[in-house]
Amino acid sequence: MTATSTRLLDNYIGGAWTAAAAASGELEVTNPATGGALARVPLSGRADLDAAVDAARAALPQWRAVSVIARARKLFELRERLVARQEDLARSVTTEMGKTIADARAEVARMIEMVEAATAVPTTMQGRILEDVSRNIDAETIRQPVGVCAVIAPFNFPAMVPFWFLPFAIACGNTVVLKPSEQVPLTQAIAFEELDALGLPAGVVNLVNGGREVVEGILEHPGIDAVSFVGSAPVAKLVYERAAQAGKRVQALGGAKNHMVVMPDAVIDKTVEGIIGSAFGAAGQRCMAGSVVVTVGDAHDRLVPALVAAARALQVGDGLDERVELGPVISCQARDRIAGYVERAVADGAKLLLDGRQVDGDGLDPAGAYLGATIVDGATPDMEIAREEVFGPVLTLIHVQTLDEAIALVNGSRFGNGTSIFTESGASVRRYRHEIQAGMVGVNIGVAAPVAFFPFSGWKDSFLGDLHAHGTDGVEFFTRKKTVTTRYFSSGQGSGSYFVER
Ligand code: NAD
Repeated sequence: MTATSTRLLDNYIGGAWTAAAAASGELEVTNPATGGALARVPLSGRADLDAAVDAARAALPQWRAVSVIARARKLFELRERLVARQEDLARSVTTEMGKTIADARAEVARMIEMVEAATAVPTTMQGRILEDVSRNIDAETIRQPVGVCAVIAPFNFPAMVPFWFLPFAIACGNTVVLKPSEQVPLTQAIAFEELDALGLPAGVVNLVNGGREVVEGILEHPGIDAVSFVGSAPVAKLVYERAAQAGKRVQALGGAKNHMVVMPDAVIDKTVEGIIGSAFGAAGQRCMAGSVVVTVGDAHDRLVPALVAAARALQVGDGLDERVELGPVISCQARDRIAGYVERAVADGAKLLLDGRQVDGDGLDPAGAYLGATIVDGATPDMEIAREEVFGPVLTLIHVQTLDEAIALVNGSRFGNGTSIFTESGASVRRYRHEIQAGMVGVNIGVAAPVAFFPFSGWKDSFLGDLHAHGTDGVEFFTRKKTVTTRYFSSGQGSGSYFVER
């Protein structure tokens, strides 16, 4: 299939599918399992963004006037529509991103859970009231929408990550401009077909395809009030700084380097399962991917043979094949970048226990971006492979003697997204939970990604902002608080000074 025979994706602006009017070019969207062309995505320009922001601003008064229960009911309907399209969405995720179909189904299930959580808005958006803050004077804090909210998404969760924000934002009465990753724009095109079918007022949700130019436009656009970003650490920093400079509310979730500590008393077979799922699920391209295993004491000798055997047994291939356990990475360019990390780790003195760079498997498409499971042992914390986000199916092992050393090592990272400890000791867990500098912690859980009702985010270089994604933080982020202090003179009371009469 040639590039020109694929369809050129539209934007969705003001309630209608619209061709990008000011695109500076277009990119080919490819299937990383085969290299085959799937579609072309426009690199929309400022005029396209302006049109989306204008539509979103124009829709604000009308959408805000819709009662909160009616907004929640739209989300109930959206939930049913997404459930009906669940398999289409999952197949789209696998086809454009590469993760296995089982993993893609789990991602779509989480996407739908975000909508379910957002339907709680009649409860979660409630304010507070206190009577008699002064004599016969009451104070109340109410929550109101922030305005036009922009969402900028990464490639690795084409379905779920945009939905960490969009359902919560519209539930709270905001309007949205979403820019999906230009590498994986197809899944959100399906989601927007379902949003379109809801019959929301035109402009409540808008989709602008594109890359850097759209992001830069968002950051300085006077019509945008809040920015939710998820992506790599350097871009998160740029987005945070520039959006804040322009006076916007911003949350920027960045990259990660996640550690999994294995204590000597860990239940080894279950620990191996947890580590394999964490390190090699989505081919290591999750922000919550366990990237470094820190073995404590004799955990190393108990763990490593079983871990290497399980990693070696993973079946590599096209994620649409139900038997496949490890799909391709996002692109051949990403594969070569990841292989470079492995090469440099060896040059730095680490030992390769398993080398996935020359992966072979039944019928692997030579144009696919395949990389087998790779395990690097004997690394030291200062090596690049132990410090930097590799974002591929590469697991690094570091050996220490005590929990103290393990905690110091994990806390030495500039990232602080997720981390896990594998142990049956409550005392070790208590210490780890108390001392570890990360936003999300798993106890005998390989991927401790919080469910929709809880906030999701890291610390340190993994996150810039204060309110995390979804859960109660989602409602906080997408609402502004207003405090009203009230008295009525006709009651015959409370005629003195509010400040003086307490
Ligand atoms: P990325 O930073 O390359 O891209 C993210 C978004 O930013 C995309 O929409 C892209 O178009 C845009 N962008 C890229 N470069 C830009 C630039 N120079 N200026 C302005 N905009 C730019 O990230 P990615 O490769 O798509 O995603 C993988 C990264 O995302 C990893 O680092 C991963 O850890 C991170 N991630 C973090 C979380 C989290 O919760 N912390 C979740 C998922 C992914």
